[in-house]
Amino acid sequence: MIGPPGSGKGTQTQLLSKYFHIPCISTGEILRKEIKKNKKTKKYIKKTINKGKLIKNSFIIKIIEKNIKKKKFFNGFILDGFPRNIEQAKSLSKKINIEYIIYLKIKYDDIIKRITGRLIHASSGRTYHKIFNPPKIKNKDDITQEKLCSRNDDNEKTIKIRLQEYKKHTNPLIKWIKKKKKIKFIEIHANQSIKIVNKKIIYNINNNNINK
Ligand code: ADP
Ligand code: AMP
Repeated sequence: MIGPPGSGKGTQTQLLSKYFHIPCISTGEILRKEIKKNKKTKKYIKKTINKGKLIKNSFIIKIIEKNIKKKKFFNGFILDGFPRNIEQAKSLSKKINIEYIIYLKIKYDDIIKRITGRLIHASSGRTYHKIFNPPKIKNKDDITQEKLCSRNDDNEKTIKIRLQEYKKHTNPLIKWIKKKKKIKFIEIHANQSIKIVNKKIIYNINNNNINK
């Protein structure tokens, strides 16, 4: 799942995971959990995420390689937030067959509205939005009723850097992917409701509609 920050990658990954019964791996979520563990690397991860920069390739690639070896991922998985640049994609292609890339396209103004209203349930990674996708009870997770929180990097200053990183590293990746004949590429306009975006992704996958 590829798209700028706030385009709906996490939201759609969770819906697709339920629909297709395929587990998902979110690199952002893994990194946020690593910060909570008392590890040597936690300072580096926290600093980098809060600055809005990308984690270095050697580090994130190792995390992915370790994760995809787990038994529950043997029959496939949905990746949310990885790859984010060509080097990550090349390393991934050496390990697995990338069947689909789903690209969520969205305008800058919509991104800001989404990011500044995002709420997360830290332990599960479930995502809500104060206006567009509110929890049943204000500020509480629908399943556990635990408190929701905002992400430290969800502010206008950091989002500008995250978008610069996206333009510099992920835009070239999208061009690279479009040239790869074996990877099915689905482009979806993400400035529509969560339900519609989801329906369109599923429709495109089920009907093998590839945008290349
Ligand atoms: P990403 O993983 O790409 O950063 P998220 O899935 O976390 O994005 O979505 C960012 C925010 O926007 C969340 O608060 C989410 O609830 C909300 N959101 C996601 N998709 C839509 C949509 N299609 N319309 C409105 N809000 C959305
Ligand atoms: P996300 O939850 O996908 O918005 O990611 C949050 C932050 O985690 C990003 O801004 C990066 O700092 C880091 N991150 C997540 N995935 C990657 C990746 N594939 N490569 C480098 N950094 C990543």
